Amino acid sequence: MSTATLTGACPECETDLTVPPIAQGETFSCPECMLTLRVEDIQDGRLTLQMVEVTLRDWGQ
Ligand SMILES: [Zn+2]
Repeated sequence: MSTATLTGACPECETDLTVPPIAQGETFSCPECMLTLRVEDIQDGRLTLQMVEVTLRDWGQ
């Protein structure tokens, strides 16, 4: 059985996410907490997600 979408849970806010087919290593933003998440692994249509540390730029002085 194949599914058109993939599911996972945000590691930060634990929201259940349903996303279009996405490749391992790609990133997307959690619609709830806006955190950037990277797809670490995909198993049986289930995503393993890792939050990505967003590099904050120094605003300068
Ligand atoms: Zn989230």
